[in-house]
Amino acid sequence: MHILRTPQELSQTADVCRVNGQSVAMVPTMGALHQGHTSLIDLARQHADIVVATIFVNPLQFNNSVDFDKYPLQMDHDVQLLEQHGVQFLYAPNVDAMYGANFSTSVHVGGITDVLEGSSRPGHFAGVSTVVAKLFSAARPDVAIFGQKDFQQFAVIQRMVSDLDMPIQLIMAPTIREPDGLAMSSRNIRLSDLARHEAVAIWQGLRKAQEQFSAGIRDSDQLIKTVESMIESTSADIDYVKVIDPVTLNGLSIATPGCVIVVAVVLDEVRLIDNHVLV
Ligand code: AMP
Repeated sequence: MHILRTPQELSQTADVCRVNGQSVAMVPTMGALHQGHTSLIDLARQHADIVVATIFVNPLQFNNSVDFDKYPLQMDHDVQLLEQHGVQFLYAPNVDAMYGANFSTSVHVGGITDVLEGSSRPGHFAGVSTVVAKLFSAARPDVAIFGQKDFQQFAVIQRMVSDLDMPIQLIMAPTIREPDGLAMSSRNIRLSDLARHEAVAIWQGLRKAQEQFSAGIRDSDQLIKTVESMIESTSADIDYVKVIDPVTLNGLSIATPGCVIVVAVVLDEVRLIDNHVLV
């Protein structure tokens, strides 16, 4: 695996791939890789000849400096994992290479960034869309893979790609979970043993809501209460539990197949998000 450190190296490498007739898939991450990330890589390999993974802990998308300072870094481990999964190129720039002197551009997606994670984490999505636009603009990948775990992030990037006429196919990969159902996340290692144990309530609540939906319950408030009451039996603080439309992200009073229950909690000072598409 070759490691690229600058946008110029990324751009030139992608050009060479294209000249050789090879398609390129990009998998952006912030590192501290787990099976959720490697599932994206494996999917990327099915969709393109060349996989470019990126690792960049993007300061622009952290509205909380403690969260940024505590974000885990495991570069040696990550490099090994990416090699094991057949990644040909890793793009891992430092902050100076990503944001040169006097950097002053921001990509702002309106509307859908005002709600959910956007309202709890001001500036977060502008940071995400700015960095992803830079990655896309340097590499011009054919395909990019993102996880369903960050459902709103996918919707925001999809909006940006469509609005800015970027010829990139986006693929949403399913959420990979721990054996007890907790969605894998680089932040999970910050949970105390007790909090880690309690965190499973999020998935248990989502599963129970799915059971109710399958039994014919369509009232969103009732589904939301089901999830909330499961989480309320733990020490987690609920930020939101909502039933939303998958494209507009608007709240729905009546749940329909394909709509999404989204959850955000703070547990042991760690923000955890999860979601489930009702079927
Ligand atoms: P992150 O490193 O947390 O920024 O995540 C990088 C990419 O991996 C994003 O597209 C996430 O949605 C995705 N991802 C993170 N956790 C999971 C998971 N448990 N299952 C599937 N994808 C995930």
